[in-house]
Amino acid sequence: MTTTESKLPSVDALLRLPAAAVLVERFGRAATLAALRDELAERRRNRAFHPPPPVLLDAAADALERRFRATQRPVFNLTGTVLHTNLGRAPLPPEAAAAAALVMREASTLEYDVETGRRGERDDHVRALLRDLTGAEDATVVNNNAAAVLLILNTLALGREVPVSRGELIEIGGSFRMPDIMARAGAQLVEVGTTNRTHARDFEAAIGARTALLLRVHQANYAIAGFTASVSLERLAAIAHAAGLPCVEDLGSGSLVDLASWGLPHEPMPGQSLAAGADLICFSGDKLLGGPQAGLIVGRAGLIQALNANPLKRALRLDKGRLAALAHVLRLHLDPDRLRERLPALRLLTRPAAEIRAVAERLAALVTPRFPDRRVAVAECRSQIGSGALPVDLLPSFAVTIEGADLPALARSWRALPRPVIGRIAGGRLWLDCRCLEVDALQAFAKNMTTLAIGNGPPVP
Ligand SMILES: *Cc1c(COP(=O)(O)O)cnc(C)c1O
Repeated sequence: MTTTESKLPSVDALLRLPAAAVLVERFGRAATLAALRDELAERRRNRAFHPPPPVLLDAAADALERRFRATQRPVFNLTGTVLHTNLGRAPLPPEAAAAAALVMREASTLEYDVETGRRGERDDHVRALLRDLTGAEDATVVNNNAAAVLLILNTLALGREVPVSRGELIEIGGSFRMPDIMARAGAQLVEVGTTNRTHARDFEAAIGARTALLLRVHQANYAIAGFTASVSLERLAAIAHAAGLPCVEDLGSGSLVDLASWGLPHEPMPGQSLAAGADLICFSGDKLLGGPQAGLIVGRAGLIQALNANPLKRALRLDKGRLAALAHVLRLHLDPDRLRERLPALRLLTRPAAEIRAVAERLAALVTPRFPDRRVAVAECRSQIGSGALPVDLLPSFAVTIEGADLPALARSWRALPRPVIGRIAGGRLWLDCRCLEVDALQAFAKNMTTLAIGNGPPVP
């Protein structure tokens, strides 16, 4: 033992101090003890400096504070990407979140029929709604759309071949690659056509005795332009049916309402795909649908029955909270006239640019005094839908932009706020896109901003 080490107090000595009692009261004895031990061990390693007990207790208190703070916290999403996968995709309507919280707190009719007193089916909470909204014979739901693709292929194509156009062998991000999912599902991918052109005859030539189904993948997050050709869903379904095979479409971000009626680009709707001849369609719950994470599958009753009979369904099923939230969001879709005001995702996506501009101007007035040495301005920009829905920037929006030196440090100071503010750096400025900042959140935004480190940096020329 060195002399400096002997100056460190024991854990017991620290625990006897009044400040330690406060920590025990707040965080519990076990966690406080562990934090004090960690702190002492750290100081023992660092022999240069051994601080007095109050400093050790303060450091342990900081560590406890960090450990007990929720790591998944709300942020202000000013990235300009509405359905931002890393920021949780669609914001739920408060009533949908409340419906989820209620069944998570209490015993519920998750799989129970109060009429008969017998076991019920958990999917029944959304089945009829999905049938009504898409015109499908039947429906089932799983953990997410990746799980939906996995379940469909594993059920219908285990050990068999699935021809897919080379132009549709996509990667969604976060390691979802169509060929990999197919392999893990036990299906054998048969690549058809070329990257830019696939013809009906390519599919016809690919069909053999081991073919299980024909799969079409919606070109969600990219576009192939120029000299291109693809097989329409109608044509693909006709080829599949002529060979006695089902036709499956992975729609990715299917919408249950026609987005074009709100001035957004048209996204394919599951009902239209069914009408075009697809036998099964899968899509996400938390993309354009604006609900919780889920994979929705609609289509022929016999095929849905087969999916439900696969033991994997149990492993991929939806939990009660998300099921309640999804049912709420689906019911909102029964009234398309009021959907925009009730569904936050749709409201944010269809927000008029003039309204966003007004928010940006109010925000600029709040931000400008905090940055005396930086140029703060309101600027036109383009927001993105996100989540792979139409990859191009296309929604006219307005941002508060902040110019000056060391933008990464500036962005970091916004992220360090109690409720982190996430913007993006481009063209020598930090952009705070106001599309997802609703008017009634401005006050909270201003309050949150009070601890913002005054951004200095050299004056803008
Ligand atoms: C987003 C997407 C998926 C994956 O959906 P998750 O809900 O993220 O699992 C699969 N296929 C397509 C075409 C997609 O756009």
